[in-house]
Amino acid sequence: CGIIAARVSDDVTPFLLDGLERLEYRGYDSVGVAVRTAAGRIATVRSVSRVADLRADLAALAAAGAPADAVTGVGIGHTRWATCGTVREENAHPHTDCSGRVSVVHNGTIDNAATLRTTLERQGHVFRSEVDSEVIGHLVERALRVDPDLVLAVQIATAQLRGSWAIVVLDARDGRMVAAAHRSPLVVARSARGDFVASDVGTIAAWCETFVPLRDGDVVELGEAWSWSSEGIAVPVPFPTATPFAAS
Ligand code: GLU
Repeated sequence: CGIIAARVSDDVTPFLLDGLERLEYRGYDSVGVAVRTAAGRIATVRSVSRVADLRADLAALAAAGAPADAVTGVGIGHTRWATCGTVREENAHPHTDCSGRVSVVHNGTIDNAATLRTTLERQGHVFRSEVDSEVIGHLVERALRVDPDLVLAVQIATAQLRGSWAIVVLDARDGRMVAAAHRSPLVVARSARGDFVASDVGTIAAWCETFVPLRDGDVVELGEAWSWSSEGIAVPVPFPTATPFAAS
């Protein structure tokens, strides 16, 4: 029910935690973040509790990490309102695929998740939760095996989905992050502080001045040079030239 993602030059953790606190008003049942470490690992902390508790868990994580494996400026966070699967830590987002390469936060509902899951399990993917969202990471990881371009992999994955999604996908290998939306709100923003993605403007308003709502089918990479156009809207809010893809 709430997404925050950031690509900043220093430790991403405070941005994720502040963002999650601002998303709390929307209501949620569990919360989590995934950050990329300097060693190219994804460190995930999830909790069926308040954001304040997650803050303590993350401080412990930072203290435990060796300097060579410090938290980078790349991370994603999520507040969950369960639509599929019970409320427990394993079902909280972010969800990471079985290889540990791809981490995903998702708002919305994947209507064909059961079918996709059966196919993926037949192909050898091991699932760790009951959540519809988990199929997304597995689909992206599969696509990355064929072509390492994360934008393309997210397009290939979302083309197989039916339902609604606002997602941010993180590739641990190179730290790339891609956002995509279809019938679920997501805004992206760029400022001197970095690149941000959130479910609503208020979550990132402290760090950004201009915001770009994603259109259905948009796939946008954070940290990429965006070109802007006002196509399709009445007010002069710029849109990124995303890579539109008809998902259904
Ligand atoms: N369907 C997903 C789940 O149950 C996402 C729910 C949400 O939008 O928070 O975890």
